[in-house]
Amino acid sequence: MEEKKVGVIGFPIEHSLSPLMHNAAFKALGMDNWAYDAMEIPPDIVRYGYIEPKRHGYVGINVTIPHKQSIMDYVRPDEKARAIGAVNTIDYRTNIGTNTDADGFIDDLKANDVSISGERILVLGAGGAARAGVYGLAREGAEVAIVNRTKDRAKKLVSELEKTAGIKDVTVLTLDEAAEWGMSLIVNCTSVGLHPNINQSPWIHGVPFPDSITVYDMVYRPANTAFMQQCVAHGGRAIGGLGMLVRQGAISFELWTGVKPPIDVMFEACREALEKRDKS
Ligand code: NAP
Repeated sequence: MEEKKVGVIGFPIEHSLSPLMHNAAFKALGMDNWAYDAMEIPPDIVRYGYIEPKRHGYVGINVTIPHKQSIMDYVRPDEKARAIGAVNTIDYRTNIGTNTDADGFIDDLKANDVSISGERILVLGAGGAARAGVYGLAREGAEVAIVNRTKDRAKKLVSELEKTAGIKDVTVLTLDEAAEWGMSLIVNCTSVGLHPNINQSPWIHGVPFPDSITVYDMVYRPANTAFMQQCVAHGGRAIGGLGMLVRQGAISFELWTGVKPPIDVMFEACREALEKRDKS
């Protein structure tokens, strides 16, 4: 059987969970001729990182930090990649670069029965993850507001999304204003609370925490962040970001192979690896 290769380029790459989850899915499906590997590509040789896997016959690759923007010069970015301003998946057969983060995030909200359309949804952060989040939520018909430590960065995100995706009416608020805004969901797209800073929350002490709300934390290490704990302590529901990671990977998997992967197997592979890391 012809060998089929896929992989991920990034820098650093050793902690990526992608090889584990994709290879676990290949194994579960008996797709023994498929393999996924990780390639460490320093920022100054992104072109090499694009060309080498292609030259070696890879079907496609994932692209992670710090190459998600710079790789756009070498591929044909689709509508999602252009809107989000970053490519995380390449199909070498078409040379199309797409971004599966927004769909992975929305798929995970839906899998958790979180309503989106017509809801007021607050996004914390204005980096790459927030841009994918706002794009996904707005496209699903949510009313979105953003709070970010650097307000100008949030304003820039709003104007860029209007330019690249025609998304209008996204508001920029302060955290105090947001506390009064009446949203049903808050999505943490900042890196606050990420391991090893596990006691930090993006919801600053002193601003009243909304009661009985749902929180989605894109941070998935730790599995139960300080922000999620704050939410539950106020009678709310908290969902961690591992599902987004798995589901964005599942979309890439299906794009390359034409096969729907077993989400539960991919989840379990990631969970196991993260638990092991926490113990070591
Ligand atoms: P990024 O582009 O570097 O953006 C970081 C964001 O966090 C910015 O809004 C930044 O605010 C804010 N921030 C950082 N430190 C802060 C602090 N001490 N106080 C307040 N705000 C702070 O990063 P990114 O790529 O968007 O990723 C953000 C997080 O999402 C990361 O934890 C990443 O692991 C996670 N993520 C998860 C998934 C998933 O699949 N679950 C996918 C993508 C990303 P300023 O603008 O003021 O600097």
